[in-house]
Amino acid sequence: MTEITLQGVSKSYGNVQALKPVDLTIPAGKFTTLLGPSGCGKTTLLRLIAGLETPDTGEVLADGKPVFSQQKRINMPSHRREFGMVFQEFALWPHMTVYENVAFSLKAAGQKKQIQESVKRALEQVRLTGMEQRQPHQLSGGQQQRVAFARAIVMQPGLILFDEPLSALDALLREEMRHELMNLVRELGITALYVTHDQTEAMSMSDEIIVMQGGRILQRGTPENIYRSP
Ligand code: ADP
Ligand code: ADP
Repeated sequence: MTEITLQGVSKSYGNVQALKPVDLTIPAGKFTTLLGPSGCGKTTLLRLIAGLETPDTGEVLADGKPVFSQQKRINMPSHRREFGMVFQEFALWPHMTVYENVAFSLKAAGQKKQIQESVKRALEQVRLTGMEQRQPHQLSGGQQQRVAFARAIVMQPGLILFDEPLSALDALLREEMRHELMNLVRELGITALYVTHDQTEAMSMSDEIIVMQGGRILQRGTPENIYRSP
């Protein structure tokens, strides 16, 4: 379980200040959602935490250690591996099997036997045992999304970052996957940071919601608190 802290973190793209200086803690082992309209800076914040972007000011810490230090300008790849990511596009490799898709990121690291055990466990956790030799096009949308989850959890990360992971699915499947994803995250006891513009999704899944607008944090609280406030 990883705790994330942002200290005075800001980011601009040219003239656009995507993220105004922000101080923030994402608590370990909780499901936290970034909620806000398109363009408010959610993805930018997520990418800064993932170490995929450098902050213009400030620092992002994972369990007190810098993910990307502005002073040093050194990326710490070990941290990347501690973070799983799931995007809107499942981004599965179309010509690889389910097994190969999930095993891919492990290939560089461990030994064959460890890889097989890790992949087996991850596929069990997302209920895809038996689907190892299928290719993505032979799977339903929900199953493809579960492969993407398996890929994100196979390294046993302390944190998973989700960027609108369900928005490509139809409404019915979206609701089903919402429960599945939530249960999986709770079961694993992973810290989750989930980006969405969908209020219903945020309300039903989160321990805590962070509402963003125009590159700022507007409000923060439990779904009940956010719902009650005017
Ligand atoms: P959200 O995820 O809430 O939709 P983003 O973080 O993607 O918001 O974007 C915040 C702002 O930064 C928007 O105005 C967007 O157009 C701008 N932006 C994001 N990424 C880039 C980029 N690579 N180049 C230029 N502008 C960007
Ligand atoms: P490589 O030669 O690239 O190291 P692997 O040994 O990882 O290949 O896998 C060879 C083939 O066997 C792949 O097609 C993979 O999908 C399959 N495979 C290996 N282990 C398992 C497993 N435990 N369950 C299902 N398929 C497996």
